[in-house]
Formats: sequence, C-alpha cells, structure tokens
Amino acid sequence: MPQQYKNYIDGQWTDASNHAQTHDINPANTREELGTFPSATREDARRAIDAAQRAFSNWARTPMPKRGEILDKAANWLEARVDEVGAALTREEGKTFVEGKAEVARGVSILRFFAGECLQPTGDVYPSASASTFLFAERVPLGVVGLITPWNFPCAIPTWKMAPALAYGNTIVFKPAEITPLTAWYIVSAFEQAGLPPGVLNLVVGRGSQAGQELVENSKVKAISFTGSNEVGTRLAATVAQRGGKSQLELGGKNPIVVLNDADISRAVELTIQGAMLSTGQKCTATSRAIVVRDVANEYRDALAARVKQLRVGDGMQSDVYMGPLVSADAEKTVLEYIEIGKNEGARLVTGGEKLRGEEYAHGFFVAPTVFDNVTPDMRIAQEEIFGPVVGVIQAKDIDDAIALANHTRFGLSASVVTRDLNLALRFMREIEAGIVHVNSMTAGAEPQAPFGGFKESSSGTREQGKAAREFFTQWKTVYVDPL
Ligand code: NAD
Repeated sequence: MPQQYKNYIDGQWTDASNHAQTHDINPANTREELGTFPSATREDARRAIDAAQRAFSNWARTPMPKRGEILDKAANWLEARVDEVGAALTREEGKTFVEGKAEVARGVSILRFFAGECLQPTGDVYPSASASTFLFAERVPLGVVGLITPWNFPCAIPTWKMAPALAYGNTIVFKPAEITPLTAWYIVSAFEQAGLPPGVLNLVVGRGSQAGQELVENSKVKAISFTGSNEVGTRLAATVAQRGGKSQLELGGKNPIVVLNDADISRAVELTIQGAMLSTGQKCTATSRAIVVRDVANEYRDALAARVKQLRVGDGMQSDVYMGPLVSADAEKTVLEYIEIGKNEGARLVTGGEKLRGEEYAHGFFVAPTVFDNVTPDMRIAQEEIFGPVVGVIQAKDIDDAIALANHTRFGLSASVVTRDLNLALRFMREIEAGIVHVNSMTAGAEPQAPFGGFKESSSGTREQGKAAREFFTQWKTVYVDPL
C-alpha cells in the first residue's frame, strides 16, 4: 500500500479539502507508485496563504542569525539523508542516482550559503546633509511569497527560492510541480524537523490551474518566484503585475555549445554529451544546439554520434546507466513529436530518434539519445525548447557566423564555447547574449554563490541565487533619525 502524503499548512499535515488524490509514479517503471498525494484546491491554497500571513510578523521579527540557525539545521537534516532523498528524487523524476544525490547535496550547499547570509549586513548607512541626522536604509521582507516550481530540479530549485525567502524574513506558500511531490515533501520535512515555526512554510501539492492560480491572483501574496515554461510564466506575471505584486521568472532555454576550429574535438564531444544528455536533456540549461565551425564539423559530428551510440540508457538507479527516462508520458510524446518535426524539416537524423523497446524499457518513458545534423537556424528544432535528449548540429562559417547563430534565438539562458584561443573566448564572452557563459565547460552547471538567470525571454525580474537573490525577496526601507 503506497504511503499517503498530505499538504502542510500552519504546521499541520492536512488532507486536501476535496480529499482528491494523485499518484506519484516512477517514470522508469510505471508499475512502481511512490505514494499518493493531495490535489490541493484553491480553498487549500487560501488557507495556506492565511497561515503564512499570520506567521509573518513573528518570523520577520525573529533575529536573522536565529533564522540562519534554522536553515543550517535543515541543511544538516537533508545532508544526513542525501542517499534517501536522492533515491526518492531519482525514482520520481528519472535522473540517475548520481545526479539525484548531487542535486540534494546542492540543496544542502544552498541552505548553508543562505544560513551564512543571515550574518551579513542588511543595509547601508548614508552621509546625511544634516549634521544631526542618522540616515540608513535597510532591507526588509516583503510578506507572504508564493514559490511555484517545475519538476526537473525538484530539490535544487525550491531550495534556492526558499532559502533566501526565509533568510530575509518572508513566509512562504510553496506549490511544487504536481509530478514530483515526494522531493518537496522531504524539503518541507527538513524545515519542520529544523524547528521552523508553524505557518512560516506551507506546502500545497496540486495543479497549477487550482492551487497555483490562487497564489497568482491572491493579493495577500506579495511576490511570486516562478520557474517553469514561458507560456505559464508570462501569463502569470501579467496577472501578478495587474494586482500590484512582484514576480520573478526563470523560463526556457535553447542553449548552444559553440565549437571553434582549434577545439579539442573529443573534449567538445564530451561537453556536448554532458550538456545535452545528462538529466535526459531536461534542464533549462541543457545543450540543444551544437554550433560547429565548418572545418571541424564532420569530424565533430562523427565523434559525437559514435559516443552517443555508446551511452547506456535505463533506470537511473542502476549504477552503469548514463541517462534515465523522460519524466512522463507527455514529455515522451513531445520529444518524439519534435524528432518527427526535425525529420520533416529536412534535418538528417544521425543517431537515436526512437522510443526504446525491449523488456528493460517496457514500463518507462525511454527515448534514445538523438543527434541531428544539417540543422538550419530557422528550423523549429533549432528554435523551440525540446526538453529532451536531442541535439542539433548547425554548421558555421567562422566565429562571426557562430556567434550570430548562437544569438539567433528568443532565449538567452546559457552558452558555452570550446576553444584554446583566449582572444576568441573573450570575444565570445562579450558578444554572446546569455546570462550564464561557459568557456570549455558544458552549458549546464551553476554554483549557488553566483547569480543565476538568463537574457531575453529566458528570465524576467532580478536574478536568483547568491547575493543577487536578496534583491527579489526584500524591499528597501530608508530611515531618517533626528534628535528632538
Ligand atoms: P510548467 O510551466 O508547466 O509548470 C511549472 C509550475 O507552474 C508547476 O508547478 C505547475 O503546476 C505550475 N503552473 C502551471 N499552470 C499554472 C497556473 N495557471 N498558475 C500557477 N501555476 C501554474 O513547467 P514544467 O513543465 O514543470 O517545467 C519545464 C519548464 O521549466 C521548461 O520550459 C524549462 O526550461 C523551465 N525551467 C527553467 C529554469 C530556469 O531556471 N530558467 C529551470 C528549470 C526549468
């Protein structure tokens, strides 16, 4: 009998008001159910918002170092369970166990970073024009914030929103993706066990159109930090803006790796595979375009195809597996549709391109790692986010052409260049329209102490992670103090 999980509202684990339940399924083996979860209604979300509002003034008054201690305890709780939470993450999302554990470890680092930030200055003192005035400005919390997150990093993304939101004194209603609720349950449990007061962090598991939409429309929620698709994010931001709220959006990507003609080809291939195939290509920072200077394009493509054919696909809990399944039947359908679109557009399928068959794959959403060649810049597979293990090789005449092609997209999240030439690397860094730039490393990969976010339609609002996160979760209060 699978365990029944609940929402967490005002410090209590509670059923959804409609008593409806959803089933958390392993995408590598759909016969395995990880638990049943509530399907929170708007009414549940309203109760969570009210609880967060009641908890706000006490939490905002709690000394920041004390808040930091709670973050630190939550980090310790999670760190002691990296294997357990990593396995849960792998079984509900599909990425390999190595990646699942690494993501939980990243969550721990994020919590520790913001625990440290709780000992940092919270404002500035200014020289006043008046001899008697003490003039300072302080960062103060916003109030209740809504965190709406996707399924692809079910530990790291909620943690990197939650840790700064709490550190700076806000209270939270957290609405994780409905298909990865177990990891969310672990994160909230970490805070419960760390002694976070009731109402400060509330969890509502359910559909975006219900619980999520309530957070977006409810004027008691002062700010929404959202990571997910462009379609949902831009609609949501318009609603939040209309009611005078604040929003922060982290959206899609179409990230290029640019391979110049002096590159070490085997290294370029390895970086492409890591960027495109780890997490089954389901990262906002995944590599989906390989832009390769013509002189080395055939050598690169042949080496890439040979390596991709060797990748072992399977259940991410098996230690020899490099790439797990897609997260859901819908995701599998979308990726297979894009593969057909690519073929119909005239791109050449070099390897992969099909659903994997056979006993091992019979109960999961497995698609072969796929490489297209002869991709041209305006094809849909070169412009739209596929969110699967598919990479298209586009030829460039030279570095000018490569940078122009790399920038020829509405997205601008991450980009990578492979070259030994420092001058070319510097040029790429300056001219590429991306919020995260890698030189000789894969397009994915981000450290918690540095700002994270993209250019163009990949992001909107201020950056997440590192010290930059403070900007979103606080507002300035400027104070003039004069003697009587
Ligand atoms: P999604 O937009 O479908 O869902 C994201 C979240 O929004 C989920 O919790 C969902 O329930 C909720 N939601 C849906 N409709 C809603 C509504 N009307 N009101 C409120 N909430 C609603 O995205 P997804 O499929 O879960 O995630 C994949 C997408 O996320 C990809 O586009 C990927 O690039 C993006 N992503 C971006 C980043 C980044 O940092 N830029 C990181 C990870 C993922």
